[in-house]
Amino acid sequence: MSKAMRCALLSALVALVTALGLVVPAAAEREIDPRPSTEELARQLGELQVRSRGEVRVAPIGASNQGRPVWSARVGHGPTRILYVTQQHGDEPLGTPAAVEFLRDAGIGDAPHQRWLRDQLTVDVVVRANPDGHEHGWRYNYAPEADPEHGERGKGYDINRYHDPDVAPEDNPATEAGLIQRHYAEFAPQVAVDYHMQGRYVGGDGREITASLMWPTTPGVAAEPLELAKQVSVVARTAMDSGGANVSQYPGGDYRGIARNAYGLLGSGSVLIELSDMGPEHEQFQISSALASMHAIANTTADGSVNDVDPTRADQIPPRGDPLPSTR
Ligand SMILES: [Zn+2]
Repeated sequence: MSKAMRCALLSALVALVTALGLVVPAAAEREIDPRPSTEELARQLGELQVRSRGEVRVAPIGASNQGRPVWSARVGHGPTRILYVTQQHGDEPLGTPAAVEFLRDAGIGDAPHQRWLRDQLTVDVVVRANPDGHEHGWRYNYAPEADPEHGERGKGYDINRYHDPDVAPEDNPATEAGLIQRHYAEFAPQVAVDYHMQGRYVGGDGREITASLMWPTTPGVAAEPLELAKQVSVVARTAMDSGGANVSQYPGGDYRGIARNAYGLLGSGSVLIELSDMGPEHEQFQISSALASMHAIANTTADGSVNDVDPTRADQIPPRGDPLPSTR
């Protein structure tokens, strides 16, 4: 057999094995695009649906102001429901590729652990809640004519200030926030985690903070969802720190329109995770770190061990320290 033939045969074999979902490439082994275009993201999600043989189900929850689909990708069919939301702020991208990797790991393949996870859980991801903001490279949605209470004139609304449960989706001026409100109500998740990015900070011990997280801090959140949010926070922190991260609390506000607060008020164990924007050389690490949190939250929710975590351990997560110079 010629060398060219052997090569062709080998490529065909690799393609076949990949198509059958026999190989799940580990995230760490290959470079992941930190900022896929919205078109490329749609292609990746479509490919996940095909390669998972329908275990990953992809559907738009609606359209952005500029007509781009806002995607939900769902894996599993179990009774316990987890919602991950990524990239409400268009220029905070890294939760999105992490979510794609999570869907790949959970959805493609038939290993016993994967089958077990899909039997226990339904995990829904709003993948890139703000595609217009991503395409414009800014925080807000696209509503240049608006004069938003929260947002920027000439750009648009800050979606993550428009989740107040007292505002009905049909009255919500921030289109994409209204889509998430509706989707949340229909899915009714027990756990909801919202992925963002922040600047660079140090901790009290002088080490850089790689991520920060927080549970609902608005008055009126019931004891049970607050406790679950703290348990989920401890799980996420432990998973990220054991992968080399340095996680602090996030000094977030108590405004009801923030998703973390709103979905706590509505009864979910609701958590915000902010990856630090540490520059291009740390992006693969940050994607892996977010992915580790997604897996740990899913696994401990599926086996119920999240409920055994002492929630007061969340209060012992150290506070975020002073800002460092930005790399942007
Ligand atoms: Zn943000």
